[in-house]
Amino acid sequence: MNLQQLQQQSFTRCKEQFAYIDEICLYNTDKIAKAYRECRVSEFHFHPSTGYGYGDAGREKLDEVFAHVFKAERGLVRPHFVSGTHTLATVLMAFLGKGDTMVSLIGAPYDTMKSVIGYEYEVKNSLVQKGVHYDEVPLKNDTYDLEGIKEKVKPGTKLVLIQRSRGYSSRKTLSPQDIGLICRTVKAIDRNIICFVDNCYGEFTAKEEPIEVGADITAGSLIKNAGAGLAPTGGYVVGKADLIETVADTLTAPGLGDHVGSYTGGYRLFFQGLFMAPHVVAQAVKGAVFAGAVFEEMGFAVSPTCEERRYDLIQSIYLKNAKNMQLFCEGLQRYSPVDAYVRPEPGEMPGYTDPIIMAGGTFVQGSSIELSADGPVREPYLIYLQGGIVFEHNMLAVMSAAEFVATHQDEE
Ligand SMILES: *Cc1c(COP(=O)(O)O)cnc(C)c1O
Repeated sequence: MNLQQLQQQSFTRCKEQFAYIDEICLYNTDKIAKAYRECRVSEFHFHPSTGYGYGDAGREKLDEVFAHVFKAERGLVRPHFVSGTHTLATVLMAFLGKGDTMVSLIGAPYDTMKSVIGYEYEVKNSLVQKGVHYDEVPLKNDTYDLEGIKEKVKPGTKLVLIQRSRGYSSRKTLSPQDIGLICRTVKAIDRNIICFVDNCYGEFTAKEEPIEVGADITAGSLIKNAGAGLAPTGGYVVGKADLIETVADTLTAPGLGDHVGSYTGGYRLFFQGLFMAPHVVAQAVKGAVFAGAVFEEMGFAVSPTCEERRYDLIQSIYLKNAKNMQLFCEGLQRYSPVDAYVRPEPGEMPGYTDPIIMAGGTFVQGSSIELSADGPVREPYLIYLQGGIVFEHNMLAVMSAAEFVATHQDEE
């Protein structure tokens, strides 16, 4: 099959899934438009502020709009959150002290959360080192285990961590319905347990967000879904008012809470990013579906398949060998808007035992709502593809990766 046929055939296979993604996108865009109308967003909310940022109208309005969109009582949206990890860590630090127990309900948490927790080895200032008890419910058949959750979560457990996206694992991503079921199970054990959802990579892939289905608090990164590639940095937390107050006190200082914090860059890109987010997420999800179709047509195992419902941005492709991983990344890199001339090479990364190969060139450093791919060069030679803010670009880059794998495979 030539590449043109491969592209056409793959595209045809995606049609039904694309129609569904469009429906989600329309629904979420309407949700956002209503929030902006009801919150009366105006141009002066985009203005920068300095110093303490007392009475910063843009900061306050952004909190209000996020709360509205996520159907939460309150929001805390800040450029001062340095990353998704920092945002999630701030929530955990806010509620967990010596003697408290947290339970991760969906197996091991995302890699960077392991150091926050102090998971595998001693990490200075981690939760475990501060005297927090950590427990986790292992996965069963690659997904959550309700019976296991009922065993591990006890009355008096302080907080449960529910990670929506599969992240860099091979388990199923949670749907809003899954999250709802898990929250109800936890609340039946003890209604005071804080249900905290790591929403990274999940925003706007479905009609409901975690708070709507029963979570108490949820958080994510602004250089992923919720910022649409426009927000230059930051994170958001939304949830119950008293919980958000405690998180704000932890981010700034007790007594200061969400009353301070300036931003000289101004807030336009945060507002515009959230406005664009449903559309941009749809572009990325379509790119992932298309990539799944192309590489499945080429004879590689992919997960999810192009017919499966998506609840995050991540596409896994099992590339069979190291050479294919290299070729895939080279092909993708050629189509990066930034650093297209660079040739990806596997390299050592702190915290990883095997060399990692990655491709991508993003406008916002490290942004994974923009197109990128990475994976450890070892069995099962799995590459994770994520993001892509323009579907046509995703398509071209994926076809370039396919071409590299198909035509250079047998050289050496
Ligand atoms: C990306 C991500 C994080 C961490 O966010 P960073 O911005 O990379 O620090 C945490 N959890 C999940 C599920 C993620 O996808």
